[in-house]
Amino acid sequence: MEKTDIKSLDYEELQQFMASLGEKPFRAKQLYEWMHEKLAADLDEMTNLSKGLRKKLKEITDYTSLEVVERLVSGIDGTEKYLFRLSDGNVIESVLMRYHHGNSVCISSQVGCRMGCRFCASTLGGLTRNLKPSEMLDQIYRIQQVSGERVSNIVVMGTGEPLDNYDNLLKFIRLLTDEHGLNISQRNITVSTCGIVENIRRLANEKLQITLALSLHASNQEKRLQLMPVANKYDIHEVIDACRYYFEQTGRRVTFEYSLVGGVNDTKEDAKELTELIHGMNCHVNLIPVNPIRERDYVQSNAHVIEAFKEKLERSGLTVTVRREMGRDIDGACGQLRRKYKENQRLA
Ligand code: SAH
Repeated sequence: MEKTDIKSLDYEELQQFMASLGEKPFRAKQLYEWMHEKLAADLDEMTNLSKGLRKKLKEITDYTSLEVVERLVSGIDGTEKYLFRLSDGNVIESVLMRYHHGNSVCISSQVGCRMGCRFCASTLGGLTRNLKPSEMLDQIYRIQQVSGERVSNIVVMGTGEPLDNYDNLLKFIRLLTDEHGLNISQRNITVSTCGIVENIRRLANEKLQITLALSLHASNQEKRLQLMPVANKYDIHEVIDACRYYFEQTGRRVTFEYSLVGGVNDTKEDAKELTELIHGMNCHVNLIPVNPIRERDYVQSNAHVIEAFKEKLERSGLTVTVRREMGRDIDGACGQLRRKYKENQRLA
């Protein structure tokens, strides 16, 4: 029989589970507190549960607790990169970023990814499996414990496509924002997607207050197709329409992520076309100088090209930021630490 993943259960489900073991309701409360408030790494930390109960829980449940394989701290900006091992041996990575407004954690939503974006290191080995809600949560729990810092913002922008793991993502958000858990505000959560249209609409209908970030990366269908195979399935206009719908349903301003790739999508014409594409939308554009990966020969745009692109957008009235590169000295960019680790293992 498959063991119950208790850290993925919401409070009601946990109460039912404990009742099925013949335990009193307050035991569920204690257990929930240990998992989601005190962030216990192990059932044995739960000293107010009897040894007998802990033993039983060990036998019939699967207590998700990620093991820190590596923790790299940037000497430049204090960014911390974590490599975690899951109970089945897979490894994932997460990042802690320190900003003036608080600490932000970037989490992975899948082991690998099947979306195939051309410039991205996380997708090179394909998708291994979805992460469970508990495995998404525990990236944050462990980072908070190990760093000793309170985390206030979460971005689901690490390895994986969150809207390709929809149900687990939603459960994760509900547990993360629960007042008896870390109680993170929905407004402090950003979910980044390559644009799975039906799930953007589904998410809009949930009417959450989270921020949707759409990985656009091109201003027309043809160019988007060159960079993102997912564009074969969804036309760029369909994706933009889904983003408009997200704003209509939630009142939340959508972020468009646009990775500037030297000579590919960074010309003045690209900028002009982009302003036309998202004209009239209540949105924010985040320009990301592409992080070159070894496996592809994409290069970053020159600094003055980035500036000119930004100015062109701003002149049309758009709010634009250029993403600051963090943790440059510690393989900060998407999927690179995990990839290096896996390569070294193969050689060992
Ligand atoms: N699958 C989701 C979230 C993970 S990627 C998505 O596609 O949005 C997070 C962001 O980083 C995306 O905008 C992605 O396109 C971008 N990204 C990935 N690799 C990159 C690279 N090498 N340089 C710049 N941006 C990259």
